[in-house]
Amino acid sequence: MTSFTYYQPTEIRFGRGRVREVGAAVASLGDRCLLVTGRVLPARSPHVETVMRSLREAGVEVTHFAGAVPNPTTESVSAGATAARGGRIDIALGLGGGSSIDTAKAIAVEATHPGAAWDYLYFKQSPTDKTLPVVAVPTTSGTGSHVTQVAVLTETATKTKSAIFHPRVYPRISIVDPDLMSTVPRDVTASTGFDVFAHAFESFLHVNASPITNLMALEAMRIVGAFLPRAVSDGTDLEAREMMAVADTLAGMCIANAGVTLPHGIGMAIGGYCSGVMHGQSLAVVYPEFTRFTWEYAKPQFAAMGRVLDQSLVGASESAAAEGSCLALDAFLKGIGMWLSLKGLGIKSEDVAPLARKSTILPDYRNNPRVAAGEEIRKMLEASYRR
Ligand code: NAD
Repeated sequence: MTSFTYYQPTEIRFGRGRVREVGAAVASLGDRCLLVTGRVLPARSPHVETVMRSLREAGVEVTHFAGAVPNPTTESVSAGATAARGGRIDIALGLGGGSSIDTAKAIAVEATHPGAAWDYLYFKQSPTDKTLPVVAVPTTSGTGSHVTQVAVLTETATKTKSAIFHPRVYPRISIVDPDLMSTVPRDVTASTGFDVFAHAFESFLHVNASPITNLMALEAMRIVGAFLPRAVSDGTDLEAREMMAVADTLAGMCIANAGVTLPHGIGMAIGGYCSGVMHGQSLAVVYPEFTRFTWEYAKPQFAAMGRVLDQSLVGASESAAAEGSCLALDAFLKGIGMWLSLKGLGIKSEDVAPLARKSTILPDYRNNPRVAAGEEIRKMLEASYRR
């Protein structure tokens, strides 16, 4: 019997040039906006200027907080929440990659509630209806954060990465303008693009997968397989950028409704422990071990993934295509420059055991078709370290 719930409250405005609508979109929700970005570097300053102009033209009062950091920290969110309270802000606008959008979501909670955003993690208190409305303008493809109820944060003191997970932090409006992504450097394109693939595939494997998420996940994987190598080799290939933004949005809607599995459990531990590792890198570094650990327990899904990445598996049996997906995925990672090892990412051998322990803090690993014991995760990390 099929039974599922599908929910997606974010209004998605997709298309090249549509960033110019941001002022009107924000003005429909509030008068005083906190614009949340990372440090404004020359490559991105035109995007920030375009957004500022649009906000001014719509009569929105803007406070610019340029303190979002990669793998957002509790400190950076608190600094943003202080700025929001000072400016009597009524809307949080995240412009940037997942880090800026998640920072905006967490500020929307911390600025309006007692305590800190960290007190509103998924297993603690729920954010109330005081939470500021959020508008998201993604500039990477991406984390899907512009269509999810998730804000990922790192508590610096404990090197722990966790998340607010609540419907109140879904962006009300997301403006997805692929032109904004043409300035993303090659390594970030590859890393964020692989995150899209991981979202699609892990939601496809997930116990909460539904006919709707499966349809979107398959299409997202197909698009990433065809267009990510193009976006990596030529960042100005606007068709590839546009298709990757579509895939990012589809895969984001998949994780919002199904979820992620073992690689994200491990990847979140790596990102919390080593803040310099990009999220997509933290996934790619364990995917070869994860595929080999899992394929026999979800043959239809692995076969489908293999056939997306390797045409020669289309005529193969389900079992052969599922097994072949491991090599197909390896080749895909090599092709986009994401064939990584833990050692190569600067992680020390003595970090492997604590990382393995931290990989089961979040519940994601339990949603894998084959549930890994702590010892099995340690072995996967050791193999990745030696690669
Ligand atoms: P990011 O936001 O950290 O950005 C990566 C780098 O790219 C940064 O240096 C940034 O300044 C730069 N950058 C971004 N856009 C650019 C542009 N247009 N031109 C030039 N440079 C640009 O990376 P990300 O992968 O988008 O986000 C990662 C964060 O999102 C992690 O903390 C991850 O855990 C989180 N995440 C959140 C969700 C969610 O649903 N909320 C889902 C997956 C991951």
